[in-house]
Order: sequence, then structure tokens, then C-alpha cells
Amino acid sequence: GFKCGIVGLPNVGKSTLFNALTRTAAAQAANYPFCTIEPNTGEVAVPDPRLKRIADIAQSKEVIPTRISFVDIAGLVRGASKGEGLGNQFLANIREVDAIVHVLRCFEDDDITHVEGRIDPVADAETVETELMLADLESLERRILQTRKRATGKDKEAIAILPVMEKALALLQDGKPVRLLLPDLDVEERRILRSLNLLTSKPVLYVCNVAEGDAAAGNAHSAAVERMAKDQGAGSVVISAAIEAEVAQLPEDEAAEYLQAMGLEEPGLDRLIRAGYALLDLITFFTAGPKETRAWTVKKGAKAPEAAGEIHTDFERGFIRAQTIAYDDYVALGGEAAAREAGKARDEGKDYVVADGDIMLFKFNV
Ligand code: GDP
Repeated sequence: GFKCGIVGLPNVGKSTLFNALTRTAAAQAANYPFCTIEPNTGEVAVPDPRLKRIADIAQSKEVIPTRISFVDIAGLVRGASKGEGLGNQFLANIREVDAIVHVLRCFEDDDITHVEGRIDPVADAETVETELMLADLESLERRILQTRKRATGKDKEAIAILPVMEKALALLQDGKPVRLLLPDLDVEERRILRSLNLLTSKPVLYVCNVAEGDAAAGNAHSAAVERMAKDQGAGSVVISAAIEAEVAQLPEDEAAEYLQAMGLEEPGLDRLIRAGYALLDLITFFTAGPKETRAWTVKKGAKAPEAAGEIHTDFERGFIRAQTIAYDDYVALGGEAAAREAGKARDEGKDYVVADGDIMLFKFNV
């Protein structure tokens, strides 16, 4: 599955937020199968209002959302790239995630020590990013020597990789994260960059952890983070970890009342989960029938056989074709049979690129 790693300096609210996520996951586990909870990983359902509409039309007995994982990556301190604190473990853990959720302290509280002795989330973000850039710089400088040698020796792979490495190195030496390269790379270069698995090439979502009273409107700190995120092409959400911790413990009706009293329409976690999902460049397709309506996840750009493979590897291997109905058609026409009659159920082959919201039925050989 797809994983977002939660990072940030000590005492910014990571554990509080993560515990709220896992409590939500635990509550969901009662309703949905396959929700696993490990000590530092919480797998949560992705809220999607389309699921219920499809399930109502298909008169499904069960509704099963798709899920993503959040991993609590503790241990970041200044000097992590030099192995300070749990530095090395920390960096190894980040390498394994698909995207970074970076929690920033945007609340004032004299009782809770800030490691740098002041509240400045933009400076905190730079501190963390600097450690990641230093780690990337070190690993790339080490690897590029080899690659340069191999490229001189006419090694084809090295010749292909080297220009991307050089671009990434130049950026890092300039004190900038590798992700800034992405808009200028073609598909093949992006694939190469991904294979280098650099920490600062992963997409980032900033989470502004604000005091309860600022949850609805944010504050000056979170506004500064939002500006920084926009400049970097990163995402940002405003959340009060304290509120989320509270909400995650309440029964559903009381949670709704509490949120309303706080001026919020939905749990911040729902916004966080959706933003994480978008950050990973994922899309959702559905399967629908009387037994269940279910949401599934694929990378944007995935073709029909890959989508089939999400359900079962046999479906991918024996893929013949997919009956596909666009979500809007499915809802407007009132279901599969009507969509078929109206000619809106398309037969798509192995080169079909799955669209977000597609309702799919796979034909396959076993
Ligand atoms: P971590 O070190 O980043 O995992 O931070 P924790 O989640 O353990 O939080 C550190 C301390 O800050 C704890 O005492 C939390 O209760 C407190 N805390 C977390 N979020 C908030 C918040 O939004 N407001 C206030 N006042 N305290 C918070």
C-alpha cells in the first residue's frame, strides 16, 4: 500500500496526531475488514462521499473504502544527517515512504518546550529540510563518483542516469531540495530520479498544528507556512492535533457536535487523509455490486490491467477487458444496467488509462 511518513521536530504534536489517526483506524477496523494497525503504522480509510452514492444505487450490502498508511517517524533532531540522535534510523525510515507529512508547531504554549526555544514554523521546516538535503548531498556525492567513472567507460545505464544525478547534485549544492527539479523532467528522467530514492525528491505536505481556538481560521504562523508551501509547490493543511485527539475518542454523534462547536465541518484528519492521498498522486476506481461497493487505489496514469491487479494478481495476468462506466454517468443514469442501455458502459482494453471515479468490471481468463 501507499505510505505517508509523519516527520517533524520533537514536541510539535506528531505523536498526538498519529495517535488520533490510529484511534480512528481502530474505530474503523470494527466496520471494515483489513484495517491493520502496527506500532508505528496506522492504516486509515480514505473518506470519499462517492462510495455511499454508488452503494445506494447498487444496493450493496457492504461498503469498503480504500486505505492509505501513515507511519510515525520519530527521532529527527538537528544533526540527524550526521547520525545524531536516531539520525540514521530516521533517514532509513523516510526512505521507505512515498510522501512526507511534515508537522510544524504553530501553537504557543509556555509549558511545552520548543527544541529551538521559539515558535517559528518556517525556520523549523528549514531545519528539517536542511538535514534531509545534507543526507541527500552526502549519498549523491558518494554515488555520483562511481556513475561518472562508469559513464566514461561507456556504461549505457550510467550514461542515462548521470545527467539526472548531476542536475540533482547542482540543486543540492545550491541548498535546494531535489523536488524542485520535477517540473522540468520528462517521464523517463522522473523515473530515473525516483530510482535514486532521494529524501528531498519525495512530495511534502505541511501540517500546521495550531491551538484549538485557531483550528477554523488558522493563525499568523500557519499563514506563513501556507505561503512557504505555495512557493515550494507543496501542500499544507491547518489542524489542531489536540482537537483531533479529542474527536477520535468521541462517539460519532458527540464528535459531530464537538466539531460544530469548534467551527469545523469535518474532522481535520479527513482533510489530512485526503490531502495525503492527493499528494501521492493517487486516483480511485470502484467496483460495485449487490455484495459490496468497494474503492480501490492506483497511481494516476495506471492502465486497466494494473487496476485489475489491485483486486487480484490473477485478474492482471488473465486480463481480457474492462467494462467501464464514468462515475457521473453511473450516478446520472442510476446504475450499471441503465448505463449499459444508454451506451455509457464502455469496453476498454489493456491500454486504457483508468480515470478517477471509474466503475469497473473486469473480464479475465483464469
Ligand atoms: P511530538 O514530540 O512531536 O510527537 O509531540 P507530542 O505529540 O508528544 O506533543 C508534545 C506536547 O505538546 C504534548 O504534551 C502534547 O500534549 C502537546 N501538544 C500537542 N499538540 C498541541 C496543541 O495543539 N496545543 C497545545 N497546547 N499542546 C499541544
